[in-house]
Amino acid sequence: MKFSYQALPWNIIFGVDALDGIDNALDALGFDRALLLTTPNQTADGTRVAELLGSRCAGHFDQAVMHVPIECVVNAEAAARKLNADCTVAIGGGSTTGLGKALALRADLPNIVIPTSYAGSEMTDIWGITEGGRKTTGRDNRVVPTLTIYDPKLTLSLPPAFAASSGLNAMAQAAVNVASNDINPLVRTMALEAVRRLASSLPRILAKPHDLDARTDALLGASLAGGALGTGTTGLHHRLCHTFGGTFNTPHAETHTVLLPHSIAFNAAATAEGTALLADALGNKNAADGIFDLAKQLKAPSSLRELGVNETDLDKAIEISMASPLSNPATISEENLRLLLDDAFHGRQPRKYA
Ligand code: NAD
Repeated sequence: MKFSYQALPWNIIFGVDALDGIDNALDALGFDRALLLTTPNQTADGTRVAELLGSRCAGHFDQAVMHVPIECVVNAEAAARKLNADCTVAIGGGSTTGLGKALALRADLPNIVIPTSYAGSEMTDIWGITEGGRKTTGRDNRVVPTLTIYDPKLTLSLPPAFAASSGLNAMAQAAVNVASNDINPLVRTMALEAVRRLASSLPRILAKPHDLDARTDALLGASLAGGALGTGTTGLHHRLCHTFGGTFNTPHAETHTVLLPHSIAFNAAATAEGTALLADALGNKNAADGIFDLAKQLKAPSSLRELGVNETDLDKAIEISMASPLSNPATISEENLRLLLDDAFHGRQPRKYA
């Protein structure tokens, strides 16, 4: 066996009520002028963190939005300078984490992240900023949070329908790193554990939204999935999601949810060993069916049509997805990509590819 592995500088506190120790955590890091970041939807979470931080909170920027638009980054950066902030504290989903990452990149501000969804961005070195309708992404160690505080209680407010899609977004990060020929035992171990925890916890959350054990399992699964994405690989699946999100403005988590079973089916023959491991972790004979059935069980969206995509958009999606070279286990052609997108558009059971 041969592999290489570059760890990321993760620094994590995980546990029920972990948030209550944020004042001590900031003191230990030597920060005392935090700029709090939230979306407008989560100002109440922000107020709670501000109370816990007391005088360590310099101010609250509550305008984080999806896809990290440059205008938002510039405004948050101006607020940070005006307040003489020495760090950011982002509480929210991947969009808020993304704003904290952008400020770490552009203004060298250490970022403390408190995830409240299953996006898993806090475990990756991937940043993204949208300018003029185009999202630029990159990898940089500087955006990995200085500290991540996971408190499963904060995810209790995540509506079950969004918990399902967000959890399947995390599942995608893990699944592509199990069903892969890039055999890295460290990444795969994280990814497999993520798949098991997400597959077992998401149905429990749907059945009983206030099940804190299930919420805890899902949050840990999402963290491990993000870790797999941060240190592993991406391929066709992420290219397709980026295409639909970027060009047709489909919602992030739901786009992953719809496309994942088809992306896994597409690569199944070319990644037989990894795909068998994935199937096993999902408790299904067939990995793609396992994910498709789980999404159905969770009542998550199963077709691109439901996400507002028109059938006539598929040609453009194929063109964009194939415009630049992509490393992917199965060979991609216009014909087989058309089959994949057609199935995803109509929400069909994933097919077998030769
Ligand atoms: P999001 O952050 O946009 O959240 C969606 C909405 O749900 C927001 O209004 C948010 O405030 C709200 N919300 C979040 N948690 C909540 C909770 N517990 N209770 C009530 N409301 C809550 O969506 P997301 O799916 O978490 O993140 C998507 C974004 O993250 C995308 O822009 C995506 O590109 C990015 N992302 C980045 C990476 C990376 O590695 N860089 C990885 C995954 C996702």
